Amino acid sequence: MSNQRRTLSFTESVNHMADRAFEVLTIDPGIATAIKACTATLEVNFPVEINGKIEVFTGWRSVHSSHRLPSKGGIRYATIVDKDEVEALAALMTYKCAIVDVPFGGSKGGLLIDPGRYNRDDMQKITRRFARELIRKGFLSPATNVPAPDMGTGEREMAWIADTYKHLHPEDVNYTGCVTGKPVAHGGIRGRAEATGRGVVYVMREFFRHLDCVVKAGFTGALSGKRVVIQGLGNVGYHAAKLLQEEDGCLITSIIEKDGALFKEAGLDIQAINDYIVEHKTIIGYPDAHFVADGKKLLEMDCDILIPAAMEGQITPDNAGRIKAALIVEAANGPITFEADEILRRRGITILPDAYVNAGGVTVSYFEWVRNLAHIRFGRMERRYDEMRGGHMLSAIQSMTEQPIPEWIQKELVQGADELDLVRSGLDDTMRLSFQQIKAVFDSNDKVSDYRTASYVVAIDKISRSYLDIGVY
Ligand code: GLU
Repeated sequence: MSNQRRTLSFTESVNHMADRAFEVLTIDPGIATAIKACTATLEVNFPVEINGKIEVFTGWRSVHSSHRLPSKGGIRYATIVDKDEVEALAALMTYKCAIVDVPFGGSKGGLLIDPGRYNRDDMQKITRRFARELIRKGFLSPATNVPAPDMGTGEREMAWIADTYKHLHPEDVNYTGCVTGKPVAHGGIRGRAEATGRGVVYVMREFFRHLDCVVKAGFTGALSGKRVVIQGLGNVGYHAAKLLQEEDGCLITSIIEKDGALFKEAGLDIQAINDYIVEHKTIIGYPDAHFVADGKKLLEMDCDILIPAAMEGQITPDNAGRIKAALIVEAANGPITFEADEILRRRGITILPDAYVNAGGVTVSYFEWVRNLAHIRFGRMERRYDEMRGGHMLSAIQSMTEQPIPEWIQKELVQGADELDLVRSGLDDTMRLSFQQIKAVFDSNDKVSDYRTASYVVAIDKISRSYLDIGVY
């Protein structure tokens, strides 16, 4: 047998991370095996006619768990996607949903495709055909399996999927709930597109509210002024970066993209970079920053906080020894391999893990699904009533005190919450409460010395309870 070291697959990496928590929890090995096992993975090959020629596409939908239904998780379109990746991501969805108390099982889908090669009409044909495959084979419905956007997909694809389901199942009154991340005009919810990135920022704000955590991570002071490096200015990275720069006073010193990285000691202008990317489809040539061709190298740059928001397997044993950030906030799924995680842990680098950090997306997907089943927009019944009560309260205070009330307080008192206010409030509450549960495990259990294990303990404790309470039959 060769003694060359074999790199772990993505699924093995996730399972090894979960194993640390299983050891801490001393769970029945049978239940542990049942929790870790992937329930089912569908692989489909389907033909689509593109410009008069038949092309065959391969896609997967994996259900990792169905202890709660529907099983939930995105569908990614990428040139590198396979069964192992989809199964690992589905497992992460199981843990993610449990951590943030979203009552769903875990699932994930992938389609092997380069979306840049096809026009809108072709993408629509391909997406509708893929959706039909999933629906007919029982891997897509509001009750059992609900996809969402992921890498390479967005509102547009979700709208096509929802419409395909509606045509196949017009009798299903809840058809809009068959997929989340839809456009607002087609049953989507306000605040879903920004949710994962915003959730990342809510996590960071909560972390910096706990002085003991901040000090343990080697920091002094607040989030404001921290130097942040972000890998990936996609949907997640963009919203996180923009909020951190504009609302939290962070200096985004580097943005790492596929075609290189931008660097500016005094802090980058995120909106300007995003506008540049939208116009030029690249960061190359952006005028107000230094450009570094070997972008990935900047993961190792001196900074306070590193946010990998691109894809899995970015921090490996090859670069883990050179990472300088004191805190890594995993906005992507699986950006740190198991082996790299061991190195970073030994080096005392604090990691806030993916299954918790990027759970804002599925949290707001849950709100969207509930809204679809309720067939009513959040806030529709109570907003004007709340405004009226606020108005009465204001008049009462004014007539009792005979004091002028500052205009901004008047506005706050009178305003009823709309859907976006409620979604953001629910997201913030979810991310805060989950951190407090993770921290409670971290603080109280001698065998837990990192936030990833603490997060998995929180998740597995809840999942195993559902197996124990209901039984295996
Ligand atoms: N694709 C996202 C994730 O990895 C969202 C999943 C969802 O909303 O169902 O968490």
